[in-house]
This record gives sequence, structure tokens and C-alpha cells, in this order.
Amino acid sequence: MRLEDYPKDPRFAATVLKSELITDDGADAEVRELVLEVNRDEFNFEIGQSIGVLVEGPTEFGSALRQRLYTVADTPSAGGTKPQITLVVRRCDYIDDYSGEQYPGVNSNFICDRKPGDELFITGPFGLPFTVPEDKKANLMLIGLGTGIAPFRAFLKHIYQDVGDWEGKVRLLYGAKSGLELLYMNDKRDDFSLYYDEDTFEAIQALSPRPNWADPIAWDYAIEERGGDILSILDDEHTYVYVAGLVPIRDSLDKLFGNLLGSPDAWAKRKAELKEAGRWVELLY
Ligand SMILES: Cc1cc2nc3c(=O)[nH]c(=O)nc-3n(C[C@H](O)[C@H](O)[C@H](O)COP(=O)(O)OP(=O)(O)OC[C@H]3O[C@@H](n4cnc5c(N)ncnc54)[C@H](O)[C@@H]3O)c2cc1C
Repeated sequence: MRLEDYPKDPRFAATVLKSELITDDGADAEVRELVLEVNRDEFNFEIGQSIGVLVEGPTEFGSALRQRLYTVADTPSAGGTKPQITLVVRRCDYIDDYSGEQYPGVNSNFICDRKPGDELFITGPFGLPFTVPEDKKANLMLIGLGTGIAPFRAFLKHIYQDVGDWEGKVRLLYGAKSGLELLYMNDKRDDFSLYYDEDTFEAIQALSPRPNWADPIAWDYAIEERGGDILSILDDEHTYVYVAGLVPIRDSLDKLFGNLLGSPDAWAKRKAELKEAGRWVELLY
């Protein structure tokens, strides 16, 4: 669905409860974790879904409400007070097509500048959830790039803390430009360390070989020693693959898995089968 086709109504006021910088101090990127409280009793959403944030900003024809989507980064808060939503937002710039100049992205900067107590307007939720398979023996391959880690933090929390006794293999493949830009997996904060003791869990990091260049993330290098494990998981009919992050991850993964399976055609066939069976779900932007 195109961004302009997402409805801007109904919209709900939400108050910022918290905004925390979650990138390391030396990182080029600024990524913040925000907790919003929706000012109504009900706002139901599931892991894998996104909400819209509405911001007044300039357009070709003056000014208008712009909507951008953000993936929920924590499980819905259980009972009690008003619904809370955690978001992980990267402060973005955009390059103007005509002038070639760089400008601050309207919505992400607005959100990153909000302070606790500030109000903003949200819409949604939108998109298909990443469903937890009924079978606890199912393998899960969770692949995230940059802010694409957001839904997987929520997903793993749900699997290991709410569902419990997960028996299938769980592999988190996480790509970032540099170690400093790894979210929730850096010196400041390592939320995934909660699961390192789980026998079924393994996290694999993939970084760019030259962080300041536009080189793609070195996925093949990261999984070099684990190719056999990943291939056997992909071969298993009890495997679900969930992918989240920026669109270029699609090509990188096609290349990586094409190499692993021995040919691009073999991978295209396998991916089509996985998609057909609902065992390959993408949340790309
Ligand atoms: C389904 C969906 C889920 C999304 N979830 C998240 C999320 O959880 N966290 C998040 O920060 N963004 C997320 N985005 C992106 C977000 O909606 C906005 O595109 C982004 O915040 C930029 O908006 P802007 O108005 O600031 O700038 P714009 O002028 O709209 O875009 C500025 C530039 O930033 C690039 N960009 C957009 N998002 C990112 C990103 N996350 N990392 C690096 N570059 C980016 C764009 O390609 C564009 O070139 C999601 C998008 C979609 C469609």
C-alpha cells in the first residue's frame, strides 16, 4: 500500500511519557526509544504492526498533515492504565531531488524533538502482525536492518517471557552500519542478553565493512561459519522467516540466500514456497 493511501482518520491524541537516546555516543545516527500513552482506554495493536504519526509540514502546495509509519517496539502493555506504545525512531535527513541539498526529515525530527509531557497524534494500527506459530517447535529466523530491530525486540520478549518453553531454534540476524549503531545490542543497553542463556537462541550481528561508506552490510561474512545451521533451518518445513527494515535488505538477502542454496533460481523457488505458506513475512520501508 502507498503511504498516501493510509487513512489519517480516526486519529488519537497520545502523550510522550519517555524519550531516550539508544545509540552509542559516537554513532552517526541518532535513534530514540519513545513511550507514548494513548489518551483513550483502548488502542489494540500486535507485534509486527505499525502506527502512523501525523505532523504538520510543508508540501508542494503549502502545508499539510504528513503521515509516517513507525513499527511498535514492545508488546502491548497488559491491563491497568491507558494503552502504551513503544517506538524506535531514527532522526532522518532527506536529499532534495532538485537542489541536491540535505534537509531534516519532518516527521522523524518532530518525534525525536518531543519531550515527556508533549502531545502528538497517531493513527492505525496498520499492517499484518508477525504471528507467533502455534507449534513451539517451529524455528524462527528474525532478520532486521537498522530500526528494523524494533519488532523483534517485542517478538522475542513475547516468545520467551509470555509464551515460554520455546523449543524451536530462534536466530536473530541483525545488520547495522557499525557496532555503534547496533540498537539494543550495544554497551549502553543489551536487551537481547536476556535470552543468551536460552539454548534455542542465537544472535548474529552483521556490520558494514566500511561504516562511513555506502557499502552494503556484510551478511555473507557474518554468517560464514553458520551457513550450515542457517541452511538447515531454511530447509525445515517448521521454519518461519520474518524480515524488517529498509527496502535494500531484500536484495542483500536474495543474494545471500541464493549463494547459500547454490543458485538464485533455487532461492527464488524456495522463497516463493515460504511466502505461499505464510512462512516468509516482510515489513519493509
Ligand atoms: C511500515 C513502516 C514501518 C516503519 N517503521 C519505522 C520505525 O520503526 N522506525 C523508524 O525510524 N522509521 C520507520 N519507518 C520509516 C518512517 O515512516 C519515515 O519514513 C522516517 O521516519 C522518515 O520520515 P521523515 O518525515 O522524517 O523524512 P522523509 O522526508 O519522509 O524521509 C527522509 C529519508 O529517510 C529515509 N529513511 C526513512 N526511514 C529510515 C530509517 N528508519 N533509517 C534510515 N533511513 C530512513 C528515507 O528513505 C528518506 O530518504 C517505517 C516506515 C514504514 C513504511
